[in-house]
Amino acid sequence: MIVSLKDVRKGETQYRFSYPTSWWVREDEYDPVVGLSKPIDLEVEIRPVGARYILNGQIRTELILRCDRCLEEFRCPMHESFSLILKKADPLFELDKELKREELLEEVMEGEELDLDPVVREQVYLFLPMKCICREDCKGICPNCGRNLNQEECACTTKTAHPAFQVLKTLKVRGGKI
Ligand SMILES: [Zn+2]
Ligand SMILES: [Zn+2]
Repeated sequence: MIVSLKDVRKGETQYRFSYPTSWWVREDEYDPVVGLSKPIDLEVEIRPVGARYILNGQIRTELILRCDRCLEEFRCPMHESFSLILKKADPLFELDKELKREELLEEVMEGEELDLDPVVREQVYLFLPMKCICREDCKGICPNCGRNLNQEECACTTKTAHPAFQVLKTLKVRGGKI
């Protein structure tokens, strides 16, 4: 979605856009966001401050993510606020190093137009949890037989516990003695 910065400077500062679910295209097969199960509702206020523009926005949507543990797809509601400062760099604009950004997002603004699409995409990635899991107690996939342990148990898991759990058991026992 393109915003005219001329309009912003004239006082048109409030914007609301809807991105259809088809808008999200996976970057590659490793993109953790498989798609959208609801359209993205973007509300943003853009204020000119000198040579800069301050963006305060809200994104509401529902993402389709792939679970890191069991590899199944699941839905994850997203309702996030964000703030950004954009400034003009000749001839393009550059984002200030600001808030939780790690990289500069260049070419967001060209001339008198601000393309909000890369901003939205970036915010979606920033929102993603470090570990994408479908639910707290997701059992994942058996490393031996590849079965989804949320759906069925397999013979391998009952025989050997994960080494980490063995350590925990030992610690518990020790703790009990003290
Ligand atoms: Zn899972
Ligand atoms: Zn197994």
